[in-house]
Amino acid sequence: MELTILGGSAATPNGGDASAGYLVSSGTTSILIDCGSGVVSQLRARCDPRTLSGVVISHLHSDHILDLIALRYGLQYAPPGPGAAIPLHLPPDGTDFLARLGDIFALGNEHPTGFWDGVFALHEYSEQLASGEPLLLGGLALSFAPMVHYIPVWAIRIEEVSTGRVLTYSADTGPAAPLAAFAADSALFLCEATLLRQVSGTDLAHAGHLTASEAGTIATEARARRLILTHLWAELGFDNYLADARTTFAGPIDLARSGMKFTI
Ligand SMILES: [Zn+2]
Ligand SMILES: [Zn+2]
Repeated sequence: MELTILGGSAATPNGGDASAGYLVSSGTTSILIDCGSGVVSQLRARCDPRTLSGVVISHLHSDHILDLIALRYGLQYAPPGPGAAIPLHLPPDGTDFLARLGDIFALGNEHPTGFWDGVFALHEYSEQLASGEPLLLGGLALSFAPMVHYIPVWAIRIEEVSTGRVLTYSADTGPAAPLAAFAADSALFLCEATLLRQVSGTDLAHAGHLTASEAGTIATEARARRLILTHLWAELGFDNYLADARTTFAGPIDLARSGMKFTI
């Protein structure tokens, strides 16, 4: 299984980077997790989006979905034209949200059957949430767990079926979420670290995001073998994130930036 970071920025892309977007591949299976601003450029630099096995969205904040618009236009119009509809797996109520978003851009007649039709096959992972059964996308099995954020959000645990190796993505979450148990024994733990301990305090922002040292603590509790910090602000200083996380996690730590690749 391979992880390619397409974007590791927080609410807006850092210079030269993109907001949340992660390409996970195993054999012929290739899935895009989240699709924030700038992700499509990074994706198109590495593969033809028509070859994606699916797209999975953790939550409906703009920094995780805005480039679905750009992806839709690329899939629709980039020569030689559209291929088969790509499965787009959304959180509960995501299809209604996207329908309203699509109506804004459809401008009445551009795509009378629906802005997203023919390009994406829309699904919600409500069934998996209710049953606890994983979502199978080719050779990858995805499980979801609710986190603590300002809107509903789900962390995603991705298991490569052929090897049992696990990559867990925190999505956006505050420290009250049961994330360590969900990420248990991950070979690679991709964890948000929007904040730094010394500047976060206990304010509102801290309720829905983690500091880098909290991400390190969770990685230690989860017995994760490798930690990648993501959802970062350049303004806070990348070295500061590393130093903060190193106070609580002894294993290898990286900072998510567009183009980084990890074999799991
Ligand atoms: Zn968010
Ligand atoms: Zn976010």
